[in-house]
Amino acid sequence: MKAIVLEEPRAGAVAYRTDVEKPRPGRGEVLIRVSAVAICGTDRHIYDWDPSMRDLITPPLIPGHEFCGEVAEIGPNCPARIAVGDFVSAEMHVVCGVCKQCQTGQGHVCANTLIYGIQRPGAFAEFVKVPATNIIPLDRDRIPVRIAAFLDALGNAVHTAFKVDFAGRHVAITGFGPIGAMAAAIAHHCGAGRITITDVGAFALEQAREWAHEMARGTRNSGIPIDVLDTGSDQREESIWHILQQGGADVVWEMSGAPGAINDALRMTTAGGHIVLLGLPRNREITLDYYKSDLIFRGLTLHGIIGRKMYDTWYRMLALLGAGLSVDHVVGLEIPLSEFSRGMETFRAGRCMKVVLYPDKE
Ligand SMILES: [Zn+2]
Ligand SMILES: [Zn+2]
Repeated sequence: MKAIVLEEPRAGAVAYRTDVEKPRPGRGEVLIRVSAVAICGTDRHIYDWDPSMRDLITPPLIPGHEFCGEVAEIGPNCPARIAVGDFVSAEMHVVCGVCKQCQTGQGHVCANTLIYGIQRPGAFAEFVKVPATNIIPLDRDRIPVRIAAFLDALGNAVHTAFKVDFAGRHVAITGFGPIGAMAAAIAHHCGAGRITITDVGAFALEQAREWAHEMARGTRNSGIPIDVLDTGSDQREESIWHILQQGGADVVWEMSGAPGAINDALRMTTAGGHIVLLGLPRNREITLDYYKSDLIFRGLTLHGIIGRKMYDTWYRMLALLGAGLSVDHVVGLEIPLSEFSRGMETFRAGRCMKVVLYPDKE
């Protein structure tokens, strides 16, 4: 089969191959013919062979964990609800099911998690096999393939957004990458009182302004004020001052993982407010500039977010999409899987939010 393979433990050692052996589903496993698969920030970390990835991955590996497809084959001992031809996605965090976290409904923080596309073969391929327990059936008529390709990432945004009640509240989003952009759409769709988006990159700021403009037009205008602010070095103080003039944010969704943005988040949150942290820093340490005055004395609450709640986040996300939540604005490039390298370069250059790849197109 066709697949993208990380062949060696070094940056850029990724090849498009057509001679990879097709996986065979074992007990309790389902084989899926991949319709579409999306590039995620994690894939970029793998591609760049970042230090954060080196302990987790043993090449050769087929990466890719955001995808949708059709059930092609069903291994023995799978539940009857899954049938060949079903349109599905899958939760690629595979948890142990027997630890304390798993048994108390906290499977998303299971210490024994195996991530398909990182520790097991992933979906940058014609076929991928996953445990039947992790299959998410999708309604073909309600969710287009190009969106179903990155429900994993949308799930991150949904999980982050609903950690703290935000209806009628001032939501600030630090980082308008794909997940930040989807989180903004959730804030808008689900009735935030005010939305502030911050970023330091020209492309992200332009995308955010375009989206805010779109939301202010015609039937989509819900009257929710949306500010897009540059927190790059010369604009930083003014932007934070502006947010504090609005009373500060009740809740900040930190999507960037950038140390500067995390410190900005501490400053822009109103006293007693919440910061929900999803963005992953590139390095191990983070320095908080004013730990005492920004965080302790102002009584902030920090929440770390990983993955999606199994499977509450999935059900909520599918319901929101069914009820008109639109995340079309994050799809930047749609190309055949064979052009993976071009897709990754475009993504790395920051010229595109989501790249969606199609294994069956040439
Ligand atoms: Zn991802
Ligand atoms: Zn577990």
